[in-house]
Amino acid sequence: MAANAKKTDLYEVMGISKDASETDIKKAYRKLAMKYHPDKNQHSPESADKFKEVSHAYEILSDPQKRSIYDQYGEEGLSGEGAGGMGMSAEDLFSQFFGGSVFGGMGGGGGPQGPKKSRDIVHIHKVSLEDLYKGKISKLALQKNVLCPKCDGRGGKEGAVKKCGSCNGMGTKTMMRQMGPMIQRFQTVCPDCNGEGETIKEKDKCKHCHGKKIIQERKILHVHVDKGMKNGSKVVFNGEGDQGPDIIPGDVVFVIEEKEHARFQRKEDDLFYRAEIDLLTALAGGQIAIQHLDDRWLTVTILPGEVISPGCIKCVRGQGMPSYRHHDYGNLFIQFDIKFPPNNFNTPEKIAELESILPPREPTGLPEDVMEIDEVVLEDVDPSQQARARGGATNSDDEDDGHQHGERMQCASQ
Ligand SMILES: [Zn+2]
Ligand SMILES: [Zn+2]
Repeated sequence: MAANAKKTDLYEVMGISKDASETDIKKAYRKLAMKYHPDKNQHSPESADKFKEVSHAYEILSDPQKRSIYDQYGEEGLSGEGAGGMGMSAEDLFSQFFGGSVFGGMGGGGGPQGPKKSRDIVHIHKVSLEDLYKGKISKLALQKNVLCPKCDGRGGKEGAVKKCGSCNGMGTKTMMRQMGPMIQRFQTVCPDCNGEGETIKEKDKCKHCHGKKIIQERKILHVHVDKGMKNGSKVVFNGEGDQGPDIIPGDVVFVIEEKEHARFQRKEDDLFYRAEIDLLTALAGGQIAIQHLDDRWLTVTILPGEVISPGCIKCVRGQGMPSYRHHDYGNLFIQFDIKFPPNNFNTPEKIAELESILPPREPTGLPEDVMEIDEVVLEDVDPSQQARARGGATNSDDEDDGHQHGERMQCASQ
């Protein structure tokens, strides 16, 4: 490493004397780091080098243990980690220094990446199809951690929070073992501050947060559920996540979950509806009424002679869901079930009149020259058997059959 090769004196680099106090070191770093930071000196490679040198010097001199090793043995004493590129990068050091309390709360000695971001808080927000059709604003209460307002997140009176002297605010302590000519170093969590890097006297602790720096707060968020949002749509509140010392708050994310609807099924921007009509309407016309998602009622007229057969699907243009953002409306598909009349719905004489109305019976397909014919009898089947018999043959009433998974349906032109 360049710094090693030149045998630069770290005190000289920082422009301080050998007996400089911790505060002096900190002050010197603050001044020099601001002066040489690459963001301010974009066209000066010398400044970038200087910035690295200063950061390197500060990293060692600000740590009493590293400093005492350095004072005794020079940088060779710090061989291995710390001296070369193994410590923090200059940028990380800088962002930690200026991003909050110095080294506060950072555990481990590796290469931390500046302030941590708290995790995103994700909530499922169940919304009815009506609300996805019309749009709405949901007011939702959120429990979150916020910096204590009484102590501004310090945990105690101004000045009462002391950097842990035992670990110098690092939260970790570097232990040393002499092994022949080598000094072996290893890190442990500081036992005096439990890795916090700070201590507060019991009597100075903030009464409001008991020195924890954060409190729980209930906050009401207004979640805009826009027209046409879908299952899985997200409403994001940037930075509304948990606050904490040296933490960038994460986001609060509401994931829209569409509730099942009693009348409609949705596929993209289309709606599917099952209408049961009687046989007379299916054959001779009539009207059906459908309650829509916004309290309107639609009426649909089936013309006399427009035969609706069981399972047949028709389409009403523009009565589906609004599309997200653009609010173009999809289509409404209606699948018909036909309710047949009960047994003996009329006298045999009247029923016979159907022969003059309906198309003639189709031939049975029985060949004329068949020798063996068994005349068999139809019996009624109990309901549970009927359901089983029907299961594979026709569309059952399962929520997810047919149109849910197949190709997207189209309105036939006219
Ligand atoms: Zn400590
Ligand atoms: Zn407090």
